[in-house]
Amino acid sequence: MPTMIAARLHEYGKPMTLDRIDVPQPRPTDVLVEVKACGVVPNLTRVVSNFFGTLTPDNKMMPPLPAIFGLDPAGVVAKAGEQVWHVREGERVYVNPGRSCGSCRMCRSGAPYDCPSWTLQGYFGRSQELMRAYPYGGLSQFITAPATALVKLPDTVSFEAGARFGYYGTAYAAMKKIGVGPGQTLLINGISGQLGLNAASLALAMGATRILGTGRNQKLLDRVKALAPPRIEVISVPNAPPGPADPLVAWAKNFTDGHGVDGMIDCLPPGAPGSALLRALFCLRRGGRAVNVGAVMETLPINAFWMMTNRIALQGSVWFTTGEGEDMAAMAAAGTLDLSILQHRVSPLSKVNEVLAGMDDRDGGFTNFVIDPTRI
Ligand SMILES: [Zn+2]
Repeated sequence: MPTMIAARLHEYGKPMTLDRIDVPQPRPTDVLVEVKACGVVPNLTRVVSNFFGTLTPDNKMMPPLPAIFGLDPAGVVAKAGEQVWHVREGERVYVNPGRSCGSCRMCRSGAPYDCPSWTLQGYFGRSQELMRAYPYGGLSQFITAPATALVKLPDTVSFEAGARFGYYGTAYAAMKKIGVGPGQTLLINGISGQLGLNAASLALAMGATRILGTGRNQKLLDRVKALAPPRIEVISVPNAPPGPADPLVAWAKNFTDGHGVDGMIDCLPPGAPGSALLRALFCLRRGGRAVNVGAVMETLPINAFWMMTNRIALQGSVWFTTGEGEDMAAMAAAGTLDLSILQHRVSPLSKVNEVLAGMDDRDGGFTNFVIDPTRI
């Protein structure tokens, strides 16, 4: 039996250890992927501390231990199951970690992301069964995954850039929901973080006419504006309470003939107050649409009457489909989506605990933390 090295967590709050375990065999509709790069998200630090496990009394959100984490694997297909017809060994892929049960009403209706068991492989989720069925995260030399999870990567997309598709895809799926495109002005709340920066690149690719972005760090905001100076405007948000008299709202209206923005995507980081989301919501024009993929956890004091009379929409969005991943790969291949802005910081698998401890040291969303499991 061939073996491999995987970083495994044996106890929440403790460091991962490198363990030698058997290379798994793919089931008939699965593939075996040799991982070349796995994206590491800052939130993984909270996940392995069991922050999310403590949110539910029975601790059912977290994978059984020992667990192999790693949310965003990219690599090469090493073996395809006997019922996999259109994926071949040697193909370069990103593995979408979104798993669903396949047989509930939502899955059978073509809406697997609304499956009650929906789970992120290599992270956490709603189904212990799915986490046991797909126990290999990308902090491992090989993983198994369903063939339906594979996004084929063009040669021009490096494994390191592919390992960032989780952020890109989360932003892309959200922006599709609010109709980002030609003629539209989009406000990205938190534009210099990982999600916000990737949202800006995608909004440029999707043809948004004007992109407004909020942030805190002027140096990072200047770098974001430099991506497309005629189309991007940024602001270091002045302190003010949410409401129509907010100078932030006046700033947004200044770029939209006094109307307000067509769409808003919230990309705020963990710990951001609800008021920061509300302030961006007030920047919408009548009939404007907002989508939330940020990490605000506070309860929002929203005025329902204001929302109704101004025809405001606010929607949540989680992750993205494999098809949306294919869209992004095609945009990257065509050159409309510019992945070259990422600064890859690649570390060997043995450095995983150090990487997790050092994630605050980054240039906002420009830094891309990657583990290469082919290096021990
Ligand atoms: Zn289902």
